[in-house]
Amino acid sequence: MKDIDTIKDLVDYTRLLYDRHLVHAEGGNTSIRIGNDVWITRTGAVLGRVTESDFTRLSLSGDVIAGEKPSKEFPMHLSFYKARPDVKAVIHIHPTYSIAYSTLLAEPCLDAVPAYSSALYRRAGQVPMIAYYPVGSKELHQAIEKLTPYFYSILMRQHGLTVATNNLSDALGIVEEIEQCCHIALLTNQKGYPITSEEKIEIDKLQGRSWPKSLN
Ligand SMILES: [Zn+2]
Repeated sequence: MKDIDTIKDLVDYTRLLYDRHLVHAEGGNTSIRIGNDVWITRTGAVLGRVTESDFTRLSLSGDVIAGEKPSKEFPMHLSFYKARPDVKAVIHIHPTYSIAYSTLLAEPCLDAVPAYSSALYRRAGQVPMIAYYPVGSKELHQAIEKLTPYFYSILMRQHGLTVATNNLSDALGIVEEIEQCCHIALLTNQKGYPITSEEKIEIDKLQGRSWPKSLN
């Protein structure tokens, strides 16, 4: 697997999200970071049909270097890139089962998605959920910003899912694992047993990672 994604890879993976029925119409946005610049879908881009000209080049401070007006959700992407230098790709989409599952959870929490498979937990780790905020709002971006130093994947109530990692291939894999676990939660009426906390601790130990128990 390649270490560095190109703009062409970004086009290919963005279309792939549509092909795999993970996005509908204009719902979602994708980006990669190369050096200190970020390429992100322009506002109104249709993900299933994007070309290289649908991506806007931004500085990490959010200034447009080249291209059209970026997606209004660009601050979410930048907050991951700024908080985590290892993050090189961010996928934000509105997948059906993740949204459906999020509506069943009343409160924001730091461990929202049940790990029905060790593959999910190995790849995605712990996935928190934020409350519902209007798309593009300052409150939404602040809620995301609070979590980006600690998590790579965030479920957004009644909105969607954002996954940040070091390449597009892994980001897509994590998106699919989370979407599958949310689907399983719905299929089992949330009565299925996830993997045990001992197994999670073992996986976290092997991965050398930890999760905050609370955030203030
Ligand atoms: Zn969105």
